[in-house]
Amino acid sequence: MPIQVLDTDTVNKIAAGEVIERPMAVVKELIENAIDAGANSIIIEIKDGGKSLIRITDNGSGIDEEDVKLAFAPHATSKIKQLQDLLYVSTLGFRGEALASIAAVSQLEMLTKTENAFNGSRYVIEGGIEKRHEEIGCPNGTTFIVKNLFYNTPARLKFLKTSQTEAGYISSIVEHMALSHPEIAFKFINQEQLRFYTSGNGSIKDVIYNIYGMDITSNILPLDTIKESCTINGFIGKPVISRGNRSYINYFINGRYIKSGVICRAIEEAFDPYMMQHRYPFTVLHLKVDPQFIDINVHPQKMEVRFINEKELCKDIYNAVLETLKHRELVPDIVLKKSNVNLRYLSNEEINRLFDKEDNNKNDNKPDSLRETAAYNAHDIKQGTLFEANIMSPQAQKDIKIIGQVFSTYWILQYDSSMFLIDQHAAHEKVLYERFMKQINNNEPATQMLAPPLVLSLSMLQQQAVEENIEIFEKLGYCIENFGGREYMITGIPAQLPSIATNELMLEIIDSIADNKVNISSETLLGRIATMSCKAAVKGRNDLPKEQAYELLKELMSLENPYNCPHGRPTMIKITQKELERKFKRIV
Ligand code: ADP
Ligand code: MG
Repeated sequence: MPIQVLDTDTVNKIAAGEVIERPMAVVKELIENAIDAGANSIIIEIKDGGKSLIRITDNGSGIDEEDVKLAFAPHATSKIKQLQDLLYVSTLGFRGEALASIAAVSQLEMLTKTENAFNGSRYVIEGGIEKRHEEIGCPNGTTFIVKNLFYNTPARLKFLKTSQTEAGYISSIVEHMALSHPEIAFKFINQEQLRFYTSGNGSIKDVIYNIYGMDITSNILPLDTIKESCTINGFIGKPVISRGNRSYINYFINGRYIKSGVICRAIEEAFDPYMMQHRYPFTVLHLKVDPQFIDINVHPQKMEVRFINEKELCKDIYNAVLETLKHRELVPDIVLKKSNVNLRYLSNEEINRLFDKEDNNKNDNKPDSLRETAAYNAHDIKQGTLFEANIMSPQAQKDIKIIGQVFSTYWILQYDSSMFLIDQHAAHEKVLYERFMKQINNNEPATQMLAPPLVLSLSMLQQQAVEENIEIFEKLGYCIENFGGREYMITGIPAQLPSIATNELMLEIIDSIADNKVNISSETLLGRIATMSCKAAVKGRNDLPKEQAYELLKELMSLENPYNCPHGRPTMIKITQKELERKFKRIV
């Protein structure tokens, strides 16, 4: 093909694609403009996930009649005049691309009026072509009505997800915008239903309550500090409200919602000693940084930021979070007494490591027999595998002696000339899972009704996870009903798992599904929800009465494969008498 200069229309559509990837980006850009215009009230309405309609109304400065047309020209902005201004930019927008890009790929109508003007303007532009420009009466401020997004770029349109998913993304961006500006009243309306609103009274805590509800709001700690590189204020969640994904780690720089791997890591690292593996904290942190130290002009979507003093900033964030956590006694420490005898205790940590999922995973590709030796060679302790079936023989089950329990978690069993350590959590999970799946496979899920029911208030992504998989939930014995807006009632749960009847554990299960970006078969998902449910059911339960624990161990031994929990973690490890004797130098 000969080399050609692309026509303006094509150039604009390509440029638009960079800024406007999906309806959520339109909403983000238009809210940013409203914030920059000094609005203290912003109303966001969408239909069909923003595909057919996005309407954003603000009470900000409005646009002067003579500037209306110019606002839609590419690279037209009132926010910076020259390159140097970028160093001090305090507005959210500055590239002058958004309106031109949105207008290039939609049918757009704008109504705007400044305070001093007698009349307002109405401007209609479709696919980048002006259709109308007239004087009308309208209130102060600006309203954008964006219809049929991507109507003239079918490739882009095809790439969009379902309306529900797109609405979920939009809801999430509006939530973030509301969290980043508690002094602005936000109202979000989806399919003519009010989804949430904030009062604009300036209280971050009130916004957190409006978005996340009571459970989270009653478990947050305030954080207000001035550091060398920044000032930080906001709230962090106590570790009890940890979540299964990173979407609850919110942070804003100079009122801007951004994504930064390094900041996220600094926050996570501070939480690390207080969190279980694969759990993530809740935070809403407002950082104020000298604009000279940041570069926001990295990407058209302005979500990425570069920091000139990155190291210092991260250290300050880390310390601020850690100091806040440290001032509360959140986690008890177990200290073991040192013994004089020449016998070494396996530390809690070591034992944990033995049962640790990750050690096990490293050897996942190897055949079982190899995995067994590879994983635990260093400790001379072995995980049982199906290759040594003797512990499952009926004879064995009669002869096994249960010696006791250590660290309220690991049972010690003796059989033949070996000692077994069994992780009660993993064992419990395994037994519940097997019982549960057996029932499901026989099509006889049993439901236990809850009175009173649990009431959960779900984010749009969580709602979607529930709505899309409601049949799977029902198959497993759950009864879930929407009772208006984002409130859901759990009226029944699987009878096998009575202990999951808490809001926290139900949310954990829902979050883990909401987190699933890839499409998986409903069968896999069923297994996954079942696994999650069982995991939640045994969470924090170390206090199993002895009799119940014995029953559990017996049942575990009767399973086809008692050696792995549904996550693939080992349920038990084995030390032979010989190995012990070697350790004590009785034999060499
Ligand atoms: P940028 O925000 O980067 O300046 P945009 O394309 O988003 O670029 O907007 C172009 C210009 O239109 C802005 O600089 C501003 O002057 C004006 N504008 C856009 N939206 C609004 C609004 N809601 N209220 C007042 N002025 C607006
Ligand atoms: Mg803008």
